[in-house]
Amino acid sequence: LQAGLEKLRDLPAETEDGQRIQLQVNTGLMTDITRSLERGAEGVGLYRTEIPFMVRDRFPSEEEQRVIYREQLAAFAPHPVTMRTLDVGGDKSLSYFPIEEDNPFLGWRGIRVTLDHPEIFMVQVRAMLKASEGHNNLRIMLPMVTSVTEVEDAQHFIHRAWLEVREEGVDIPMPEVGVMIEVPASVYQARALAQRVDFFSIGTNDLTQYLLAVDRNNRQVASLYNSYHPAVLHAILHVVEQAREEGKKVSVCGEMAGEPAAALLLMAMGVDALSMNASNLLKVKAAIRQVKMCFIRKLLSEVLAMDNAEVISAYVDLQLDKAG
Ligand code: PEP
Ligand code: MG
Repeated sequence: LQAGLEKLRDLPAETEDGQRIQLQVNTGLMTDITRSLERGAEGVGLYRTEIPFMVRDRFPSEEEQRVIYREQLAAFAPHPVTMRTLDVGGDKSLSYFPIEEDNPFLGWRGIRVTLDHPEIFMVQVRAMLKASEGHNNLRIMLPMVTSVTEVEDAQHFIHRAWLEVREEGVDIPMPEVGVMIEVPASVYQARALAQRVDFFSIGTNDLTQYLLAVDRNNRQVASLYNSYHPAVLHAILHVVEQAREEGKKVSVCGEMAGEPAAALLLMAMGVDALSMNASNLLKVKAAIRQVKMCFIRKLLSEVLAMDNAEVISAYVDLQLDKAG
């Protein structure tokens, strides 16, 4: 743990004037559990289920998945654990399920793969549901959603899986189901999506990549990959506003959420939770505990009036430095 920050572990993530936000973690490996609990995480905002799939040489069975998922759910209970359904394709590949494409980021990835393979989806959702019995802290999240049809189809399968496991005697309520907002289409469909789901989580890693048409892993264009780009900031704000108008919770789980300055802007936009790598959690909490809402709201409104990512980034750093 970072020196000096561990004392923040059990203190709330709240501004000097008492505005609270939930700080959660992104997990994938078993080792993430201990690191997260040591830092006082209030649940998991993104459990990347593809990670246990990637470290194997075949699809894990329903029972194998149930055991893995139960460890996450049990470790964080009563806090929520947001399990993302399998997000392969793009930059995430499985050796035993090869996908060959010219444009993987625009290809068969995320929800597209699992809706084409309901047998993979059903096994995974059934395992999640069974794993949550007794804890009831499961939330299911769908990756790479671009249309309401995908949400409706996925909800249909989730409902069917829920009926099946209930029939088999597993006593669990229907979990909350949400979507990741990580492609431009979902930004412009935010209202319609919010009407159909329980929550949003904004995936700023992919959202930045797709809004700016900049490959998130290509060094050649890395200097163009900037989440402070006005297009990205305005897109996030729009999504937050739409979710709130529909009375739905919204969080951010991309790398931006774990970057203290960006986290403050996201908080000013009104997000309910920030989910990040455990290593960033106490740094973000420290930043939140040092500001007042009026300060970060003013900063946000100044930033939203600017039209240049580099200027925004420099301005935010300067203002936060000045504020100490
Ligand atoms: C994202 O796209 O911002 C995200 C959190 O998901 P991943 O990084 O796993 O694509
Ligand atoms: Mg993503």
